[in-house]
Amino acid sequence: MGTGTRTDMAAPSQPQQATYDAIVIGAGIQGSFAAYHLAQRHRDTLLLEQFILPHSRGSSHGQSRITRSAYAWMLYARMMPDSFRLWQRLEAEASTSLYRQTGLVVLGPAGDPELEGCRHSLGADHVLDATALAQRFPGLRLHAGEVAMWDGTGGVLFADRALRAVQDVFRRHGGTLRDGEKVLRIEPGAVITITTTTGVYRAPRLIIAAGAWTGAIVAPLGLRLPLQPLRIDVCYWREKEPGSSSAGRVGPCFMAVGLNQAPHGVYGLPALEYPRLVKVCYHHGSPVDPEERDRVPPGTPRPDVAILSSFISSYLPGLEPRPAVVETCLYTNTPDGDFILDRHPKFNNIIIGAGFSGHGFKLAPVVGKLLCELSLGEEPSHSTAPFAITRFPGVLRAAL
Ligand SMILES: Cc1cc2nc3c(=O)[nH]c(=O)nc-3n(C[C@H](O)[C@H](O)[C@H](O)COP(=O)(O)OP(=O)(O)OC[C@H]3O[C@@H](n4cnc5c(N)ncnc54)[C@H](O)[C@@H]3O)c2cc1C
Repeated sequence: MGTGTRTDMAAPSQPQQATYDAIVIGAGIQGSFAAYHLAQRHRDTLLLEQFILPHSRGSSHGQSRITRSAYAWMLYARMMPDSFRLWQRLEAEASTSLYRQTGLVVLGPAGDPELEGCRHSLGADHVLDATALAQRFPGLRLHAGEVAMWDGTGGVLFADRALRAVQDVFRRHGGTLRDGEKVLRIEPGAVITITTTTGVYRAPRLIIAAGAWTGAIVAPLGLRLPLQPLRIDVCYWREKEPGSSSAGRVGPCFMAVGLNQAPHGVYGLPALEYPRLVKVCYHHGSPVDPEERDRVPPGTPRPDVAILSSFISSYLPGLEPRPAVVETCLYTNTPDGDFILDRHPKFNNIIIGAGFSGHGFKLAPVVGKLLCELSLGEEPSHSTAPFAITRFPGVLRAAL
């Protein structure tokens, strides 16, 4: 398995030291999939995570994420078939179910560019008229001038289970996962040296997939990435009557785009996690330092929750318009909402995957594959040009 060799395995009181074929920083869904692909390609891989797993401090925790084919930008739409296939492969390898197909309704004002983009990616025959919408999603109201579309491939990915599965398969392929071990220093070179809270590791290639912490990790490497961590309120809303939001069965997921009252968009998932609680979230949050995520002074206004309450009153009247449960998660947004998947502009054996802007979970199997391919110096199986670091001006600090 691989060419990496452990050197000088230390006694417990001394720092760990070892050499690998590849090191990945961050055991969220993106780093874990990158490590999984490397291990499947027989590279001796170390996956490092600062917190003890499982944890709920980053972006990949919780039980559910939406997956879908409908995407306004064809670049992502073209990746989705590969992603569905790779999720299925993981289900088979881990002998577990990670996806529930529920279908997805996309709604918004007729002519909205994002809605039109989704229509383009799905095909014109996916428009739902009022009768078809009422059959598929009786709890959802459409207003004058709005249209809805149906994406039959849409559904729910079981997020926590998926993260566990990809890490289990990674380990089964010989990968090493060390949690509770924070990376403190990265020394670039033909062989990169990584110093953590308990060890020193070396490898000829490194992938950084550190979620909301990525900006801080790459700053000493001379990069100023325009990454904005956001604190997201993950809200669950109680059905007034059991099953009232979906006529008693598991209803579809939905996305609402282009609404004046919710300019960043709203999305929802059926009551799968908590009985009678439907997950409905605003696709935006408050800027935050990930280290300070939970330091919210009491009484701080929550404009997102106010937007959601108003949305629920007018679009989902079968739900109580006050959240029953509010959990917390992090987005890491780029200015254009698109991912960063690229080599460091100066150190081409350091690969960075970041800025998943609240829509990266469904694509993680493909993102991991692309990060793996970049790290091995291969032609990526989907173009990564649109995800280049240098699309943002001034990212490279003059000192390097
Ligand atoms: C509320 C919410 C809903 C979402 N819904 C959807 C959805 O429906 N569909 C969809 O496709 N996407 C969705 N997303 C987005 C998706 O979940 C994220 O894009 C994805 O989880 C990002 O994963 P990541 O691996 O980049 O980050 P993370 O999961 O945060 O992983 C990064 C890891 O790096 C570790 N780390 C950081 N610094 C260090 C260090 N110095 N040393 C060691 N380890 C370190 C962190 O502890 C963390 O575990 C949602 C996100 C949120 C928050």
